[in-house]
Amino acid sequence: MKKKPNFEILFNKAQIQKRINQIGCSISKNFTTEIPILVCVLNGSFIFFADLIRSLSIDCEIDFLKVSSYRGKKTTGKIILEKDISFNISGRHIIIVEDIIDSGKTINFLLKKFKEKNCRSISVVAMLKKSNKFNFQLINEYIGFEIKQEFVVGFGLDYNQRFRNLKEIYILK
Ligand code: 5GP
Ligand code: MG
Repeated sequence: MKKKPNFEILFNKAQIQKRINQIGCSISKNFTTEIPILVCVLNGSFIFFADLIRSLSIDCEIDFLKVSSYRGKKTTGKIILEKDISFNISGRHIIIVEDIIDSGKTINFLLKKFKEKNCRSISVVAMLKKSNKFNFQLINEYIGFEIKQEFVVGFGLDYNQRFRNLKEIYILK
């Protein structure tokens, strides 16, 4: 028989929405003159992304890319770009929207890739960031919540593709 997963709530709907609105406000203040392109990192960011762009009071464009590295609760360490963006981003302000930063490998992979494209600026928004022994600070970074080294699901985040549709963020025990 399949073992039932054990969840512990970490952030509820109100907490998540409040924080998204705060981040949306900061981004809107920082991009008043030029239209940024927000890039959704699939799959995990799609729900956060949809709420974030609707919290902006400025004009924006959107694009999508897809990377994968995780199997179950473990990273394979190898990042694969499964789908690239379709816009020409040279000279544009780019805002990469991630679900969660853990080791930083995925975001560093993406930053390296975008830096080769002559963007005007690159910012990073992550709904969650895990505090770990390799703590690093990115420039132009907006973080929803800093969390401990625990595996989380819900609000777009999966465990083997499940639980993305949960409205809250949970620790998977
Ligand atoms: P990193 O490359 O920073 O180690 O990991 C980044 C990616 O791993 C995230 O974009 C996310 O897809 C996945 N990931 C890392 N930690 C978690 C977690 O706690 N839960 C889930 N569902 N995915 C995670
Ligand atoms: Mg991700």
